[in-house]
Amino acid sequence: MNEMKVGIIGAGLAGMTAGSYLALHGHNVTIYEQYHMIGGVAGLAEQDGYKWEIGPLLLGGFGPRETGTIVLTELGLQDQMEFILEDRGLEFPDFKLWKPKEFQGRYWRREKLKELFPEESEGIDAYYEFYTGMIDLINMNRDLELKKGLGKQFFKLRMGLKFSKYKKFVDWNAAQLLDLFFKDEKIKALFTGILADFVTKPIEFPALGIPQINIESAFDKRILTEALGMLGEPTFHYIRGGAFKIIQEMEKLILNNGGKIKTETKAERILIEKGVAKGVQLSDGSIENMDVILSSGSIPDIFNDVIGRENIPESLKEQIDGLRYMESCFFVHLGINFNPLQSQPNQLCYYYETYDIEESIERCRRGIYHKGKDGFLIYIPSIHSPSMAPEGKYAVTIYTICPDRLKEGTWEEMKDHYADLLIKEAEKKIPGLYEGIETRVVMTPADFRKRINTKRHSFGGLAPIMGQVGPSHKTPIQNLWYIGAYSESGGGISGTMWGTRTAVKQILKEI
Ligand SMILES: Cc1cc2nc3c(=O)[nH]c(=O)nc-3n(C[C@H](O)[C@H](O)[C@H](O)COP(=O)(O)OP(=O)(O)OC[C@H]3O[C@@H](n4cnc5c(N)ncnc54)[C@H](O)[C@@H]3O)c2cc1C
Repeated sequence: MNEMKVGIIGAGLAGMTAGSYLALHGHNVTIYEQYHMIGGVAGLAEQDGYKWEIGPLLLGGFGPRETGTIVLTELGLQDQMEFILEDRGLEFPDFKLWKPKEFQGRYWRREKLKELFPEESEGIDAYYEFYTGMIDLINMNRDLELKKGLGKQFFKLRMGLKFSKYKKFVDWNAAQLLDLFFKDEKIKALFTGILADFVTKPIEFPALGIPQINIESAFDKRILTEALGMLGEPTFHYIRGGAFKIIQEMEKLILNNGGKIKTETKAERILIEKGVAKGVQLSDGSIENMDVILSSGSIPDIFNDVIGRENIPESLKEQIDGLRYMESCFFVHLGINFNPLQSQPNQLCYYYETYDIEESIERCRRGIYHKGKDGFLIYIPSIHSPSMAPEGKYAVTIYTICPDRLKEGTWEEMKDHYADLLIKEAEKKIPGLYEGIETRVVMTPADFRKRINTKRHSFGGLAPIMGQVGPSHKTPIQNLWYIGAYSESGGGISGTMWGTRTAVKQILKEI
């Protein structure tokens, strides 16, 4: 195969995954990153000997045969990293769902919910039957990718048969599904709470997505380690050193294979002649000619500014103009001088303070920040990665979803005040938190906008609204490909890696 000159915009996980595959295939890769550090939202914040992850927490997709593992194995990086199987806790104002001390089987949450909501017992059983069937299908779908030839056809047939039971739910939204199983708004909120993070209302989210956002093994890792025969449940892991470790290993791979990574180098413009991408114009005014260009980054910034609206067909303009995005996030990273596990039994806990998920989303969309009153999460990365804090100290992250733009005031003005309010809310869960602070780093939407070069920050890219898909990897412009969390593949650590792998495979096939 002839060596191609490949230009990649963005050294986030998408750009680094693409760069790794293409450099390994012998192509001449250059990655342009506007910020002074690589990693995008998979990067780190650092201060006074502490490190915090600026984005990802617990990662799906790194168990046996899962997508992240497949990518890292293909790149030869799997053995360079240490994966720690974990789970998380969950609290609502009236009930807590921490895993029991003694393992009580795959469905302990089902039994616990029946104790909490006895009048909902029938619905709870029906939900868990639905959940189990859907998880089988999710696993079959994952395995389908690895099957070939006639075996693949038979497997598809089996999947089709199994799916026929759930086909009627294809056009249903999550609110309809939960109304089918439950009456009590509190139990419905348990299964839709995470949608507040996506700023997507239950009526907008697909019913069939509900099991995927409520994986039982996320709340008890022993489902995978102790319940023999239950290995089909998806897994959740931390990576020692954080998700940034993937970026670091990819960086070595790219550089060892002749690739270049240019930081503080913004791609201002993709140069397009007669519908063909020819090169990139950089922030220092220079132009680099390329055979193929892959771009990550947000849809409006890349399509409207870097590619240029005049270069995209009307149908794509219509598609991107109609898209709805998630809102942003507010992070308070703390370095503290005592072990917070004294008060919080797990290194990650989601604290929901409201059952009205829809109203909370509505307010966020209107630019009103809840200041921790609707809920927050507390994450302690230095438990799985002790190097993220000085000896005897702990790195703690408190985070909430928030509007990208405030209805009143700016994030720059409100930053410290809102950080204080959020720490006070978190203090109710971890007493002594305020007193124990040694250092703090606050990241607002305004900081995220700078870090990843966007005019409007969205925590996860496109909102997972029924029927909404991001632009395809293959753009209408010849030799120009679109990758990353905003593209058709969607986001998440393993999701972004898998989507980028799909795009790269397509590129390699086409040339
Ligand atoms: C707060 C938060 C929490 C998350 N939690 C989880 C989690 O728990 N589990 C999980 O699996 N995933 C999580 N994710 C999602 C996951 O981290 C992302 O989907 C993934 O890292 C996105 O990678 P990307 O390369 O597409 O985008 P980015 O990381 O945004 O990278 C894009 C890069 O392109 C650069 N860039 C943009 N425009 C230009 C330009 N014109 N020129 C040069 N460079 C440019 C940016 O500076 C940036 O570095 C989280 C994300 C966030 C933000």
